[in-house]
Amino acid sequence: MNGHAHSDRVGVAAADRWWHCNALFRIVSSERRRVMLLALLAFALMAAANLTVLYVIERGRRDEERSAARYAALDAAADIQMEITQSLSTLHLLRAMVHESAGSAPNFERVAGQMLPSFPAVSALQLAPGGVVQRVVPVHGNERVIGHDLLKDPSRENEALKAVQTRRMTLAGPFTLIQGGTGMVARMPVFLSRPEGEDPFWGFATALIRTDDLMRAAGIEQLPQLGYDYRLTRWIPGQSEEQVIAASVGTRIPASEIQQVVVPNGEWQLSVGRRGGWGSPWLIVFEASVSVFVAALVGGLTYMLLNQPLALRREVRMRTSELEFQANHDDLTGLANRSLLCDRTEQAIRHARRVGSSVALLLADLDRFKTINDSLGHSIGDELLVTVSRRLAGILRESDTLSRLGGDEFVIVMADVRHEADVVTVCDKLIHALAQPVRVRGTVAYPGGSIGVAVFPRDGDSPETLLRNADAAMYRAKEHGRGRYCFYESSLNVRVKRRLALEAGLREAISRGELEVRYQPKLSTASGRIVGAEALLRWISPSLGEVSPAEFVPLAEETGLIAGIGEWVLIEACRQLRIWHDGGHQGMKVAVNLSALQFRQRNLAQRIEHIVRDAGVPASSLELELTESMVMENAEEAASLLDALRALGVSMALDDFGTGQSNLSYLERFPIDALKIDKSFIARAPEDDGAAAISRAVVALARNLDLRVVAEGVESPAHWNFVCESGCDEAQGFLFSRAIDAPALGALLADQASLRSLGTFSG
Ligand code: C2E
Ligand code: CA
Ligand code: CA
Repeated sequence: MNGHAHSDRVGVAAADRWWHCNALFRIVSSERRRVMLLALLAFALMAAANLTVLYVIERGRRDEERSAARYAALDAAADIQMEITQSLSTLHLLRAMVHESAGSAPNFERVAGQMLPSFPAVSALQLAPGGVVQRVVPVHGNERVIGHDLLKDPSRENEALKAVQTRRMTLAGPFTLIQGGTGMVARMPVFLSRPEGEDPFWGFATALIRTDDLMRAAGIEQLPQLGYDYRLTRWIPGQSEEQVIAASVGTRIPASEIQQVVVPNGEWQLSVGRRGGWGSPWLIVFEASVSVFVAALVGGLTYMLLNQPLALRREVRMRTSELEFQANHDDLTGLANRSLLCDRTEQAIRHARRVGSSVALLLADLDRFKTINDSLGHSIGDELLVTVSRRLAGILRESDTLSRLGGDEFVIVMADVRHEADVVTVCDKLIHALAQPVRVRGTVAYPGGSIGVAVFPRDGDSPETLLRNADAAMYRAKEHGRGRYCFYESSLNVRVKRRLALEAGLREAISRGELEVRYQPKLSTASGRIVGAEALLRWISPSLGEVSPAEFVPLAEETGLIAGIGEWVLIEACRQLRIWHDGGHQGMKVAVNLSALQFRQRNLAQRIEHIVRDAGVPASSLELELTESMVMENAEEAASLLDALRALGVSMALDDFGTGQSNLSYLERFPIDALKIDKSFIARAPEDDGAAAISRAVVALARNLDLRVVAEGVESPAHWNFVCESGCDEAQGFLFSRAIDAPALGALLADQASLRSLGTFSG
């Protein structure tokens, strides 16, 4: 992402909210999809079940329809057959009549006229003696038949001849009749009977059966009334052609029920089908539509039923998520609040632990927010905070968390930090961004900001510790002049750093002339005059300032540097003493502190002898200050060294007396000249009875052993009074003077009266 696009972002807050909504939307839409699927499934199952039932019912219905049609066809076929059979029976009667009358048949017209109404299929009866039609009933309509020679008719002679030959009745047709229409002709050959010889052929008795009449007689028109189509056909003998005898439709009937009609000259086929086909497509369509509609209803109902709790849950979730967002975000800026910050920090720490990276916590505090808020009003202050938060968000990566702790404190968590340089870069950018003016409602404010940084794991491993340390670092940044950032340094770190700096500086201190010896005067309690001075070392470091010997002497001891430094102090103090002696203060003594390391040097006595000699001062004006522990550490060697020093004429004082083990037995064994009561006793003695008692006991003990007693840390007249009363010999302390440089002490020595006027003590 480039910088511009980055700064255009509405901010981490908006992104956060967007993310929140997006996650919710994903959950909701996946649930909705699930419900939709379930509803669809319900629909599909319902539709499948409905359609299956519908199919079974429909098939049953079709079967029923077909069998009904089959029976109707069977009935019709039987009726046709019966009508034909009955119709033909008329010819048997005519033959009997001709036979009886030996061919004259005088009653033919009357009998035929009486018979015809009883045989509705028969439309005419004829007698054809010798094969030529001569008499016909009824005459009307059949006039044209008379004179027709059946044996000579080319289309019909075959049948006629066949009848003569077989002596049996034949049936011909249907065919187109001479009288018009179609019909069949049944011929009965009539032979007269002769008692002797062959029966002679008389002629034919014929019956005309009109197809229409036959059909009407068989009641076939009932089929269309019942809703059936029919088609009665036959194969014309000798031709591969189908002849339609009677039909309710012009075309073949598909999927029809077929029945055979057995007639004397062959077989006819009666096919019967339902008008409009089997079953009722519209009913099917209607029923299927209803089924699908019902299934859709069930599907919809399922969706509604399932979706209702879902919608409720969605609502609850949306509200909860909103509340969650509010609980974790700052109302004003929409940034993460403290609790979310802690979560994110913990998360970042866990991740950093796994992958071995760092987490940086940056606490930014506006430098002048309070002033702006107080002078321009809270609403402008709020707007300023929003603007600043957007500005900060623009600098950060997507993975960083920006939060507001309240007030004008912003905290940034940088996760997965690999190089501390990255943190520095971000700090620079943030400081720069904070330093830019902010325009709010026409006024321009310069909030500025300081940042404190704490880094996991170095500066802490919990959000609380990191936050505390970042806060401390932020305060340090403010101390150092605001508008800057500071990394947290633990006190341990600071100590180590200072120690390193001290060590590095101390090596150079002597050669660079940074060390100085100051002198603190010691006064006699008897005379109130300066009788000596304690040489106290000072290090004036250009980088670290004035460093206390309490701090650098132990370090010099550890590093061994004290050997050189201590010797330099001895030389310097003796050189100075010589100056004072030469200046007329021959009684002046100087006390030099010895370090433990110096005390362990084998040739210490010789060295001191040299120094004293070189300086040209009597060894008796030099006092060495030792501590109890130095003497006790190696009592044998200490004893011989002290003896050697005593032999030189140097005097020895036990420093800080009362703070060590104070094993009093060694006071007899070692050649000690003086005890210095530690300043902690003197400080408490005037009020504290215990401290006073110890001090008095020390003085009494010293008296017994013939030792001088020096009191340190005399800061007040009360101290001075106590010191005088308790019988100390000498005293030193801020009441008279701090450790001062040699010229200053020289001036004091020259004018003891002025010193006396410094203190309000009685001397
Ligand atoms: P110390 O030997 O006990 O020195 C006396 C300390 O008490 C000095 O501190 C002095 O400034 C301080 N002092 C004097 N009067 C008063 C007073 O009235 N009230 C209070 N509160 N303090 C008073 P300083 O100069 O900081 O020296 C500290 C320690 O450093 C000395 O304690 C001594 O142990 C060591 N030291 C100083 N110079 C040398 C040196 O040249 N060599 C060695 N080895 N150690 C030295
Ligand atoms: Ca001392
Ligand atoms: Ca002391």
